[in-house]
Amino acid sequence: MNLYDSIIKTVHEETKKAGVIDITDNAKKAWPVTEHSELVMRWESAFELGGGTTPSTNYTLVSTEDVAEDDGIFLVGPDIPDIKSDCAFARIVIIKTEEIGESEEAYNAIRNMEFARYHVFPKGYMVRVSSQSNQEQVRIGQDAIKKGINFSAVGKAYLEKYKAIEHVQNVQVIFITKKDVVESLGKYAKKADDITRSLTHIYDGLATDCGHCDFKPVCDEVEGMREMHLGMAKKKK
Ligand code: SF4
Repeated sequence: MNLYDSIIKTVHEETKKAGVIDITDNAKKAWPVTEHSELVMRWESAFELGGGTTPSTNYTLVSTEDVAEDDGIFLVGPDIPDIKSDCAFARIVIIKTEEIGESEEAYNAIRNMEFARYHVFPKGYMVRVSSQSNQEQVRIGQDAIKKGINFSAVGKAYLEKYKAIEHVQNVQVIFITKKDVVESLGKYAKKADDITRSLTHIYDGLATDCGHCDFKPVCDEVEGMREMHLGMAKKKK
């Protein structure tokens, strides 16, 4: 599957231009996680990523091509210990999977990746997401700061969650705290989400009636989407 590949290429190009660094080995282990969403009150927080009027975005990109040669955690902008007040924030995850085909297995894999996107709860790191606007805000507790929380450790917690999903081979977690890069890459969040929503409906058995389909604008724009749906329908006959 290569439906997201043009966005992946843009993310790699723009983060490289902005001076992305590899922070995979900055932390020895993953930051501890809880079972449910953390509650960090405003008065006990140090600052918010994507908080106030700062921009924020979150999206996931999947491919079967060699887009992520290895697992990794990457950062553009200051790391958590160097941030002193609310700032822009993006978390973009790029996943390389085995060829998952067009079966129920593929449907489940996509759904599991979407589940993982919203179900990692690092301690002292309260995540609030808006799936409609693709925004993600994170309130970080003063206590977590004292204990040394950083993006490498948080990224490892996300990495472990994604790697537990069947068919997932490699995962890259990219954190961005530089405003202009968050704004620039935030423009692709809707397209990434449109592809995911269209895919889940296609796998769900959506009829191939392009004239009356809500996803026509996505198929008109994303190379390979229409061919994939029509190909699947042909095989079923
Ligand atoms: S090919 Fe695209 S536009 Fe046509 S029915 Fe399938 S999803 Fe809808």
